[in-house]
Amino acid sequence: MALVEISGVNKHFGDFQALKDITMSIEEGEVIVVIGPSGSGKSTLCRAINRLETFESGSITIDGKELPEEGKELARLRADVGMVFQSFNLFAHKTILENVTLGPIKVRKQSKSVAEKRAMELLERVGVEHQASKYPAQLSGGQQQRVAIARSLAMDPKVMLFDEPTSALDPEMINEVLDVMTGLAKSGMTMVVVTHEMGFARKAADRVIFMADGELVEQATPEEFFTNPQSGRAKDFLSKIL
Ligand code: ADP
Ligand code: MG
Repeated sequence: MALVEISGVNKHFGDFQALKDITMSIEEGEVIVVIGPSGSGKSTLCRAINRLETFESGSITIDGKELPEEGKELARLRADVGMVFQSFNLFAHKTILENVTLGPIKVRKQSKSVAEKRAMELLERVGVEHQASKYPAQLSGGQQQRVAIARSLAMDPKVMLFDEPTSALDPEMINEVLDVMTGLAKSGMTMVVVTHEMGFARKAADRVIFMADGELVEQATPEEFFTNPQSGRAKDFLSKIL
């Protein structure tokens, strides 16, 4: 069984079907880049994977376990799925170090000293260790997004989801975040990355998933996908962005 198994997932918002019978599996250590036009269901799929969004039918398992819809068990299992969004969502009134230690202390029941030691290692890994005692507003967007990545990693997730992590950043800060993500990909982390950064897709993805109108239309290696897209919708999308 793959680390993440998505099977026959359907999701409506009212009459509108945002996910249409999505089935896919993600192997441990695999890096998947999800691309597709705006409104194609990419964010909804990410949110369904960690149950920020419910769905009507189908199932999603992480390491063989289905996430319950609510309750204590959900918080614990959800911690296995790290998520980094377009907006960094750091706690404004907590320091960078506190932002990273909060989850491990509350959810993982780590002692403060253990959590802080690990947080400093992670902040160093993403290159913001010197900002540990500052507050989020004192950091650049690129630094804040790197803290958000460190904060997710502090929970020791089994899989990391990134939903357009660089699209709110000034251009000069995009690469510093993509470099951290590339390093993470190389380290063997299982990742699902929604992005318009095709350079990252070519460099880091094992597999590209192309979504359109709530459907998983194509999946292929980046090489195959970018040189020889199969569907009209993928060809059309690529002609607009490349
Ligand atoms: P993407 O991330 O690919 O741009 P989304 O997953 O955000 O697409 O959205 C897919 C579709 O579902 C869009 O048409 C969007 O308007 C719709 N949608 C998403 N969230 C909601 C919601 N909470 N209520 C109603 N419609 C929604
Ligand atoms: Mg989206």
